[in-house]
Amino acid sequence: MHGYEEHARGMVEKQLRHRGVVDAAVLSAMEGMPRHRFVPELDPKRAYADQALPTVEGQTISQPYIVALMSEMLDVRPKARVLEIGTGSGYQTAILAELGASVVSIERREFLARFASRLLEGLGYGDRVEIHTGDGTQGHPPGAPYDRILVTAAAPYLPGALREQLVDGGRIVIPLGERHHQRLVRFDRDGDHWHRQEGTACRFVSLIGDDAWPD
Ligand code: SAH
Repeated sequence: MHGYEEHARGMVEKQLRHRGVVDAAVLSAMEGMPRHRFVPELDPKRAYADQALPTVEGQTISQPYIVALMSEMLDVRPKARVLEIGTGSGYQTAILAELGASVVSIERREFLARFASRLLEGLGYGDRVEIHTGDGTQGHPPGAPYDRILVTAAAPYLPGALREQLVDGGRIVIPLGERHHQRLVRFDRDGDHWHRQEGTACRFVSLIGDDAWPD
């Protein structure tokens, strides 16, 4: 699409800045990202709307505001090692990569993992992103420990494997709650102490796996 930049700019201004997103790196990553490429079957303009959108196989690409909030909460520094659970379209993965992180992302649906992997490669993030098909509730031990862990599907509680794979001093952001209503929760690890902070209400697709909701 020609001129997507204008839609992306409007999205950042009205949906993010106006609502209090202040992290300059997050705002600029989202302004530069061609969001329409992640929902190829939709009218490109709709891709920048203020809502979650359907992607393949009944899954969703999160609302831009929620992606911005989660990215801001996660506090991603360049070179950070990030584990993401729930690749979906790969949009959030691309934002993390644009923030300078090296990302390992796990998706349980093989088709989505392949779609996202190909797209991220095409956008030039191939060297910073590694996508695997599998159950993300088990984390990904070969890449551990991670500086940051981001879960982009709704969980009933924080899976134990994710705690174990976080570095001391690291942070996890995860939507926790019921099947149809959650809150973004931030966990900061300080040795054996975990500080928990509740954030914005949200609604995500369920995290389905051995240490989350049953299929
Ligand atoms: N962040 C994505 C949206 C994720 S939607 C984006 O920007 O487009 C949630 C995704 O989590 C879905 O694709 C779903 O298939 C996946 N998912 C659910 N349970 C999972 C699990 N146990 N491991 C890995 N992925 C999972």
